[in-house]
Amino acid sequence: MLARTAVRTAIAGITLLLPLVAVAPSASAATVAPAQVTITYDASQASEYADAIAQGIAIWNEQLENVQIDEVEPGGDPDVSFVADPGWPRAEIGPAMPGDDLTVWFGKEGVDEGYDLVRIAAHEFGHSLGLYDNKPGPCESLMSGSSAGVECTNPVPNAEEVAAVEDMYAGGLVRQHAGTGKIVVEQVTGSPAPKRWSVPLDEATASPS
Ligand SMILES: [Zn+2]
Repeated sequence: MLARTAVRTAIAGITLLLPLVAVAPSASAATVAPAQVTITYDASQASEYADAIAQGIAIWNEQLENVQIDEVEPGGDPDVSFVADPGWPRAEIGPAMPGDDLTVWFGKEGVDEGYDLVRIAAHEFGHSLGLYDNKPGPCESLMSGSSAGVECTNPVPNAEEVAAVEDMYAGGLVRQHAGTGKIVVEQVTGSPAPKRWSVPLDEATASPS
């Protein structure tokens, strides 16, 4: 009986502790290694831009912890496909997850206007990762895209853009997946900039298509 009472007392003690235990993970989330999502891309349909695409992907991989981007194995099924295209660069909005089939159109119009190839690749893949345009915006913003001018060659997302992607893939879960499949049409050079170019995340989530 003494032993049983001791066990009951121990259980009661554990039960009392549970609420504290449940609170602990969120309080120390920053120190817990997040589950990582791995997505794949293919550049075989945009082979003339393969180097720029590889550089753009490498930049994202250097910045991100919660999602890893790998080139798809030969014969594999990529989650994001780069396709060379005669039009303006554009992309389907993510955040891409394993099993998705999103497209980035590496548009020649943007290339011919002189926009930096690595910035184009990294910017469009930013859409694949779930980011919308930040137009008009400064050169230090990757998602400002063409609005930063043709002389802007920065292919690196700023801290805010990195944090937004990290947040979407945090814990291996994508919280804003409802926007997937929408095509983000880029601003054509010379057109007036101060308008919204795409659906904000909250509206996209409210009305999934
Ligand atoms: Zn864009």
